[in-house]
Amino acid sequence: MKAAVLYSPGNLVFEEVEDPVPGPGEILARVKLALTCGTDVKLYRRGHPYARLPNIIGHEFIGVVEDVGEGVSRDIVGDTFVTMNTSPCGSCFFCRRGQENLCVRLGEEIIGFTRPGAYSEMIVVPRRIWSRYYFRVGEGVDEVEAAFLEPLSTVVHGHSVIGGVSGDSVAIIGSGPIGLLHLQLSMIGGASSVTVFDRHWEKLRVAERLGADHVVNVREEDPIKFVSDSNINGGLGFDTVIEAAGKREAWELALKLVRKGGRVLFFGGLPKGVEVSFDSYMIHYGEVSVFGAFHTTPRSVRRAYELISSGRLRLRELISGEYRLRDVREALESMARGVSLKCVIRP
Ligand SMILES: [Zn+2]
Ligand SMILES: [Zn+2]
Repeated sequence: MKAAVLYSPGNLVFEEVEDPVPGPGEILARVKLALTCGTDVKLYRRGHPYARLPNIIGHEFIGVVEDVGEGVSRDIVGDTFVTMNTSPCGSCFFCRRGQENLCVRLGEEIIGFTRPGAYSEMIVVPRRIWSRYYFRVGEGVDEVEAAFLEPLSTVVHGHSVIGGVSGDSVAIIGSGPIGLLHLQLSMIGGASSVTVFDRHWEKLRVAERLGADHVVNVREEDPIKFVSDSNINGGLGFDTVIEAAGKREAWELALKLVRKGGRVLFFGGLPKGVEVSFDSYMIHYGEVSVFGAFHTTPRSVRRAYELISSGRLRLRELISGEYRLRDVREALESMARGVSLKCVIRP
């Protein structure tokens, strides 16, 4: 079969590889479509602490069950399904406390990192992952939208960490795919207004189309001045600020946009060791609550699939283009240039 193999950062080769065979408990699927993700871009350009190279990359996909390994019922052969890229173990300290996103064994099996990924004609899904996460994509569910399960579930988890945004004026820093998912969940969650900050008009226009109340291009307008001049809490700042850019400047900006007594959710991770600075006054005298959210939990994954099936989200708006598998490098390059949101890859 054909697949895109990453040998080392920057060195992605579309080539013929051996057909995979499902081991005991595993399923073999034909990849129907895969999505690109910011993490794939990072992995492609710089490598990733969890990744074992060379490996076939790609981790957001829809598949059709082609064959099953020993001990798996053949009833599922022919199913179109979506799963996740990893699964918690269910028994460690964190899993037993319902904090499965922090599972100590999360890094053991990750599709596209430690296991062959989805930029490929076929993929094997380990038992640990599909036995926990297996959603048959039924009729009436858009297959491209279903492939958003993993990124959407992390955003759902972020909202559960802060207990929702009902009635809040919300600021979202970053209008990439993750920021745009936060925008849609905030609107569904009853935010009183949503303002999106970014550096690129192409992305801000999508936020506008999706219903953002205000968009601010931080290259053209001072975001702090925007808040003081606005009628958002009389210029005091936002009730909730969601950082979804994964940049140090964005982290620092978040604490300048929030009102006293408000909340900040740091959603975009920074490399280990990066220090950020902020005025401690806001945390103590301003009683700002600060949250972090990482990865997702089984509850949030189920909720994400419910949302996808409900058709209430406009996920196709986040697709910038379609590429063939042999052109996956081009898709990743266009994302790296900041012009694409997400791309569909079809084998
Ligand atoms: Zn992803
Ligand atoms: Zn665990």
